[in-house]
Amino acid sequence: MMMTQELRNDLAHNAARLEILEQKALADKADALLEEYAKAHLPGVYADNDTFYRVRWNQAKTHLYAVVIIPTANGIRFGQFAKGAMSRLTHADMLTADQCEALSLAWGNCVMCGKGLTVKASVTRGMGPVCAKGYGKP
Ligand SMILES: [Zn+2]
Repeated sequence: MMMTQELRNDLAHNAARLEILEQKALADKADALLEEYAKAHLPGVYADNDTFYRVRWNQAKTHLYAVVIIPTANGIRFGQFAKGAMSRLTHADMLTADQCEALSLAWGNCVMCGKGLTVKASVTRGMGPVCAKGYGKP
């Protein structure tokens, strides 16, 4: 069957429309991924206004949760589960390993596990070897 000019035009229009829709779907997907990635997605220490949070995986490793880090006269302690914190915290709020070490030094406890820093190398560095090595890793 010969293609009529009209049919050819129709096909061209549909192809163009399909291409635009596909591009839009891809762009939406990229936006959603970027939005997801902007959220806090790694364990570590996060700062939000004047509050510091320790973010860790739950036991089943299905989601991250946050607790408030509470400085005390002798070191730090970890507060209760910080409800709603994970919906506010973004990846940009995450401290670098260097910042964590500085914070641990200032408080005298590893900000990730709360242990006192006793080994000289750890005291100098600010975090114990395990926490320093694993910092931020999923
Ligand atoms: Zn530690």
